[in-house]
Amino acid sequence: GGKGSAQDPGSEPTLGMDPFADTLQRLREAFSSGRTRPVEFRATQLKGLGRFLQENKQLLQEALAQDLRKSAFEGDMCEILLCQNEVDLALKNLHTWTKDKPVAKNLFTQLDSAFIRKEPFGLVLIIAPWNYPVNLTLMPLVGALAAGNCVVLKPSEISKSTEKVLAEVLPRYLDQSCFAVVLGGPEETGQLLEHKFDYIFFTGSPRVGKIVMTAAAKHLTPVTLELGGKNPCYVDDNCDPQTVANRVALFRYLNTGQTCVAPDYILCSPETQARLLPALQSAITRFYGDDPRASPDLGRIINHKHFQRLQGLLSCGRVAIGGQSDDSDRYIAPTVLVDVQETEPVMQEEIFGPILPILNVRGLDEAIDFINRREKPLALYAFSNNSQVINQMLDRTSSGTFGGNDGFIYLTLPSLPLGGVGNSGMGRYHGEFSFDTFSHHRACLLAHSDLEKLNEIRYPPYSGWNQQV
Ligand code: NAD
Repeated sequence: GGKGSAQDPGSEPTLGMDPFADTLQRLREAFSSGRTRPVEFRATQLKGLGRFLQENKQLLQEALAQDLRKSAFEGDMCEILLCQNEVDLALKNLHTWTKDKPVAKNLFTQLDSAFIRKEPFGLVLIIAPWNYPVNLTLMPLVGALAAGNCVVLKPSEISKSTEKVLAEVLPRYLDQSCFAVVLGGPEETGQLLEHKFDYIFFTGSPRVGKIVMTAAAKHLTPVTLELGGKNPCYVDDNCDPQTVANRVALFRYLNTGQTCVAPDYILCSPETQARLLPALQSAITRFYGDDPRASPDLGRIINHKHFQRLQGLLSCGRVAIGGQSDDSDRYIAPTVLVDVQETEPVMQEEIFGPILPILNVRGLDEAIDFINRREKPLALYAFSNNSQVINQMLDRTSSGTFGGNDGFIYLTLPSLPLGGVGNSGMGRYHGEFSFDTFSHHRACLLAHSDLEKLNEIRYPPYSGWNQQV
């Protein structure tokens, strides 16, 4: 087995045959039968997903530890619990979200009924990355199920242990005629993308995002692309360095820096840099001890390829804090780089690891120019005791999300959407935004079959129109 459909691991597809055709056919038929539409059915699926999370919490935590050496606490807080909350929120609001939404009417439609019906798209494909392999696979799934779709889930092949749990255990909790997990890397996913879906939800890199959107375009399939990029973090001179250092270090080094919304680099004056460095060192020591390698709270780099890439980036600028690495367990110390030039490799790609370069700018205007010269980031952070500085940054830049005086704590609010803009993606999800993303908003007007007298005015001939009105 291994590749292809996880539903029938025994039957290896014959060489040259499409490994996904049967699964997709089955899901299409289930959707056409209408069985995913009733609210009760959707609630049953969501409850199943909730039970999966509860009953397999330890199994998931172990898988996350194997894939990323993620601590049990972090796995719970950043992945399992957030998914559980999302399930609970959807269950609580399902009746409200699925109700037809009446809209304002004009004189001609006063007696009619006008509303928006949020109906399922049909067969939805969700493609997930490896860095939060539970969260980024199941959070979109909640929205897709709540909206009444049939779903094909494609977890990342790189976070192998989590992929295995999702493929082997999750389907037991969901209706298998409407839901399937498929396995594979770039090649298999490419093959999968040749099929027609009614919606594709992709989380991953901008590079693969383009491949997904190109494949979707062939079928005019709508997409949500949750991508990444380099997230700037501006630190104003007017700040308490230790407070800023604590907050930046927490969100930079969480998940060993492998977070799409992590602050990627700091922009500040040389004077603020001088105050921040000892504060960052103190935060790192406080969080991870004198030898971060021994800390149970610091994870590891996902695989050797990424380890090597990150090790290469350590030679940019000058190491001010950390800088140690060990190939044997893919360890990279929480690191701060200074004297970094904009042209160096560490400033060309999303870092996606525990490395934080500091670049010097002279004040807010120069920071804003720097940010606006580059692709629109997924997240932007600004730290200052002066709220005008924060507001200026907010008013004069663009990004998927914005954090003033904190990291990505906004992800705990399902009332806020997560999504990029420009190179960091398109579309949004979480909470009701997920439900809306996975629903077609159908414009409906139901008129009366009688009262024809009222309609006389709209029929041709219009020759006498000026006189009549
Ligand atoms: P990736 O783009 O390499 O892979 C994502 C998914 O696409 C995986 O399931 C993978 O199997 C599949 N894939 C890879 N190559 C493919 C190809 N050629 N054709 C078809 N499918 C292919 O991303 P990743 O390395 O897993 O994750 C890291 C990236 O994801 C970073 O750029 C990060 O910023 C981004 N990310 C974004 C968010 C967000 O919410 N916006 C969250 C997490 C990660």
